[in-house]
Amino acid sequence: MSGRGAEKRVALVKGDGVGPEVIDGALAVLEAAGADLEFVPVELGYGQWKKTGKAMAEEDLDLVKTCHCVLFGAITTPPDPDYKSVLLTLRKGLDLYANIRPFRTADLDFVIVRENTEGMYSGVEKLDEEEATTLRVITLRGSLRIAEKACAIASKREKLTIVHKSNVLKSDNLFLRICRETAHRWDVPFEDMLVDAAAYNLVINPKRFDVIVTTNLFGDILSDEAAGVIGGLGLCPSANLGEKYALFEPIHGSAPDIAGRGIANPIGAIRSAAMMLEWFGEVGKARMMEEAVEWTLAQKVATPDLGGSCSTREVAEAISKRLAWSD
Ligand code: ATP
Repeated sequence: MSGRGAEKRVALVKGDGVGPEVIDGALAVLEAAGADLEFVPVELGYGQWKKTGKAMAEEDLDLVKTCHCVLFGAITTPPDPDYKSVLLTLRKGLDLYANIRPFRTADLDFVIVRENTEGMYSGVEKLDEEEATTLRVITLRGSLRIAEKACAIASKREKLTIVHKSNVLKSDNLFLRICRETAHRWDVPFEDMLVDAAAYNLVINPKRFDVIVTTNLFGDILSDEAAGVIGGLGLCPSANLGEKYALFEPIHGSAPDIAGRGIANPIGAIRSAAMMLEWFGEVGKARMMEEAVEWTLAQKVATPDLGGSCSTREVAEAISKRLAWSD
């Protein structure tokens, strides 16, 4: 899929909190899967801000751009009023417009495709004493490219649900129209649903969903809800895709409440690494990693967030051993 020759260069951003712990787990499993990757460590985030006063420097983006993609842990927001989100800077700088979040358990399997660059996170804001405004920008180009990505995924699955709030937000009329037209063009079965109804249905009957496409903020919130529905944030991976670059990260944050104790669930990070291998075209190895994760979960080898008593390392080791057997 990458089409960039044999060498696979990955910017490694472990980040803060549980980020390094879960990424180390993912690296161990990638090695057990026999992945042939070149890692370029890039220090970004709170730790870097404490050392240098900057969570991310200009040259960091240039270094990241010498790589094909990024494997990302999590970043703690520094207490700095001028702080610009590292993740948003990377998403914008690499034009990673599609956030793909698969949610899978033994009996659930759906994907949220979230627009990643505009909507409520466009960064167009005005603050003064009396009034604070955030502009929700929806463009034809932004809607079209996320609709195309979602339809490409849905065309290999069952159906598309377009989630919006066009009864109140006029900007969503554009998003909805473009998604409908794109689904017609792809001949993908589709429905549309108001975001409040989608939030309710995700809890009541998550099986009714297959591929959801939605705008930035709605996708952010619905994916944390979906993570809760399938059993926890620690299980969930994501891919941020653009035309040229990609970034893979677990959907959880730096979890400062459990950082440093070696008990963070590494599965979201390991599944993100599997998505990265798939993006590189290593579909067989990616599937083997996913199967080893499922086998390990079925054996109840689990960290405390899933009711188990294993450490991050023990879970990663169990998955790695399973991979060694299936060789
Ligand atoms: P951030 O602002 O960086 O997103 P946060 O604390 O708001 O941080 P998370 O870091 O995602 O959000 O944590 C939310 C909750 O989920 C916390 O209770 C945390 O311990 C738990 N959690 C997050 N990631 C994991 C993980 N990998 N394993 C176990 N628990 C996790």
